[in-house]
Amino acid sequence: MMATRTQTMAAAMLALVAATGHAQQYPGREQLRAQSAEFRREVIQVARGVYVAVGYAASNVVLVQGTDGSIIVDTATDPVAARAIVDAFGPRLRRPVRAIIYTHSHPDHTGGARVFAGNDAPDIYSHEQFLKKPPDVGRAGREGGDQFGMALPASQFINAGVQAEFGRVVPPTRDGYLPPTRTFGGGELSLTVAGVRLQLLHTPGETPDTIAVWLPETRVLMPGDNAFRAFPNVAPIRGSRLRNPDAWVSSLTRVVALAPAHVVPGHTRPVLGAAAAGAMLTAYRDGLKSIVDQTLDGMRKGERPDELAAHVTLPPALAGSPFLQEFYGGVEWTVRGIYADYVGWFDGNATKLFPLPEKDRATRLVALIGGIDRVIAHGRSALAANDATWAAELADYVLVNDPAHAGARRLKAAALTELAERQVNAIARNYYLTTAQFLLKDLPPE
Ligand SMILES: [Zn+2]
Repeated sequence: MMATRTQTMAAAMLALVAATGHAQQYPGREQLRAQSAEFRREVIQVARGVYVAVGYAASNVVLVQGTDGSIIVDTATDPVAARAIVDAFGPRLRRPVRAIIYTHSHPDHTGGARVFAGNDAPDIYSHEQFLKKPPDVGRAGREGGDQFGMALPASQFINAGVQAEFGRVVPPTRDGYLPPTRTFGGGELSLTVAGVRLQLLHTPGETPDTIAVWLPETRVLMPGDNAFRAFPNVAPIRGSRLRNPDAWVSSLTRVVALAPAHVVPGHTRPVLGAAAAGAMLTAYRDGLKSIVDQTLDGMRKGERPDELAAHVTLPPALAGSPFLQEFYGGVEWTVRGIYADYVGWFDGNATKLFPLPEKDRATRLVALIGGIDRVIAHGRSALAANDATWAAELADYVLVNDPAHAGARRLKAAALTELAERQVNAIARNYYLTTAQFLLKDLPPE
């Protein structure tokens, strides 16, 4: 039953793509497809005694060999992925595992600890903020949107920006999680484990509890998710608070100063060699700082979010950086997120102090346009003229008062599918496509 429905929906989605997809080239989508090379399964030697398993799970796992045991940095999503990584490390994973270090608390980095720990009872390190994390309120996904694309047919899914297959192989589970046994407050903790010197640096960025792991002997930096090969996800669309961009920039400045020989990020492949590592961290810091500075400058001049979004961009020297392409985070989302964080929800226009309810506005606009059929006809023309955002908005004016309207649902699904195909951003693509799938669900054939 489920399979049949999924197949029907997949066929409907493919028909939509065929209807809207052949006329244009989609360079962003092809760039996103190329990003999938970042997740090729491989154990890569980073330095003497330092290995990273890339592509076996949503996030990377690092193995540091010591004189009488091993250290594991981050533990993948779940026990199945963790076991595959243990197998891939093979004899390079010298038992016992003496320490596990969590760079931060996100489930894709903490879900496989039990497998790496085995019977070795390692110390498990994190920053103390790890345990003080307030609960994630999130947003109920009633429109079907999902940035990870977990329900998408394989033909539609490319990747999740910094992850190949999040949730597609094994449902996320907490069975393999182990809580930290050693936490530290303040800025850093120096320790020696299995003869390996380590520094754990509190570097808030993607999360307030992020630590960067620094190996002074091999000059390897593991910045967690504070830097990888995609624009940072400062203002997540999945529904969470702004990730403090000022703290993030400061943390990046701190790790730039270490002048690492290699960087092993929490996602995407390691960046090997001092020149490349420095270029990565500097581009990441300067790119994010520029977006923050431009946004604040514009805000001081009274610019509203739409005005800021129209002109705040990466400086030309950084726009082509392979580390700042918008596969995951987005510049426009960051601008809007910073605005809301610094000055709140109100954009300064008095009309919007108490706005019309959206249902009321839609009723009036539909009447102005000449009724629902004309709205849909305008939407179809807009879509045919490549104006997909306007087509989706026109469909919304119908759907807000009649969520079951088949013509409006089909129009919006087609518009979102077209917008998805244009995206370089994986999570926007996945969100568009899962919403389109939701809109087409249970509709009779046209
Ligand atoms: Zn992650």
